[in-house]
Amino acid sequence: MAENVQSMLAVDEALERILAVFSRLPAEQIDVADGLGRVLAEDVRATLDLPPFANSSMDGYAVRAADVLNARRDAPVTLTVVGDIPAGSAPQFTISTGQAARIMTGAPLPAGADAVIPVEHTDDAPQSGKYTDRLAAPPPPRIAIFEPSQAGAYVRPVGEDVQAGQTVLREGRVLRAADLGVLVGLGLPRIRVVRRPLVAVLSTGDELLDVHEPLAPGKIRDTNGYTITALVQGLGAQAIRLGIARDTVEDVRAHLQRALDAKADLILSTAGVSVGSYDVVKNVVESLGALGFWKVRMRPGKPLAFGHLQSTPFMGLPGNPVSAMVSFDVFARPAILKMAGRSLYTATAEAELAHPLQSDGRQSYIRVTLEQQNGKLVARSTGNQSSGVLTSLVNADGLLIVPEGVTEVQAGSRLAVRLLTEHFIP
Ligand code: AMP
Ligand code: MG
Repeated sequence: MAENVQSMLAVDEALERILAVFSRLPAEQIDVADGLGRVLAEDVRATLDLPPFANSSMDGYAVRAADVLNARRDAPVTLTVVGDIPAGSAPQFTISTGQAARIMTGAPLPAGADAVIPVEHTDDAPQSGKYTDRLAAPPPPRIAIFEPSQAGAYVRPVGEDVQAGQTVLREGRVLRAADLGVLVGLGLPRIRVVRRPLVAVLSTGDELLDVHEPLAPGKIRDTNGYTITALVQGLGAQAIRLGIARDTVEDVRAHLQRALDAKADLILSTAGVSVGSYDVVKNVVESLGALGFWKVRMRPGKPLAFGHLQSTPFMGLPGNPVSAMVSFDVFARPAILKMAGRSLYTATAEAELAHPLQSDGRQSYIRVTLEQQNGKLVARSTGNQSSGVLTSLVNADGLLIVPEGVTEVQAGSRLAVRLLTEHFIP
């Protein structure tokens, strides 16, 4: 990859270059029981109707509606009960004129019947306190119907839910609980899904300590290792946290080798990509592949490295905690979604800015709270927007985008906000 060192790029140009490198990962077969959150690798077409047979939606009596058109409480119609149809049975008899069969919810409608009379509309209505007596009791020989009916009443027709031949779920769908229910209803124990992307996350820096290490002078804790890993996991991808590499060629190489050994689909590192500080990461990645250093016209963010180690894509995110997370959201998230076979859709809302803002002409991602006021969504800065102030993200509902080239934004301006709750929560 021949990249100009420090090329200046707009956000969209940088994203386009990154996305060009990624494609959907191969499919694999899994048990439907493991399908939650997985991405369908192909359309699913129904090979049968659901429900597969017409059935009762009530406990009651299967009848011919024409027999009970004029039934009333003061003038009931009496029918002969010729059968009993518990759920799970398959009635072999036919209902003729003047006949009925007791039927339970979910049981198949017998031939000849076209309606169900709920038991409450008959003289077999349960009396209080008599339920145990009724368990397994045979139906009465005759039944009085107190209400009229019509064809189709309390009957769930064949294919009411799904029709054979219909595409029920599309490729790229992130499977939800109800989707799994439909797949199971269709009798599909195994499903084809896209393999989950495996993303290695490396922190670099001599100042970094892990969370359980005691703080020492000049040191800070490696928050990026955890925030970036969490963002990866929130996308349904698998993360390998490589830990902290010291600012030495040997240590960075050893850590990156673990990512290669694990056959990661993408390696993310943080820090060591800004001017004057990138030599270690640059040396190692270039010795194993190629790396371009970009200055993206965005804030926070700006420095971004992108290239490959052997054949594995490598993205060097900035070190500042907010810059790392915002750069992940803008560049790594779409790359991971593309590998995962998912839509690159970004949830945004238009919001009215409660106060004026200044920007430096780079595309800016202002951390804002969002509030509904008089039917409008109102955005307010979360305060100090320094790229080291992680609580500006903790308190944020979204990232308000001040487009490139804009330096002044008036109060009341309407701008797009990327909705973080849609991104940063699995
Ligand atoms: P650098 O890109 O190495 O110049 O780092 C930029 C800033 O980000 C510095 O203040 C670093 O201390 C900070 N930083 C770098 N890596 C991490 C990390 N993993 N967690 C928290 N802060 C970091
Ligand atoms: Mg550093």
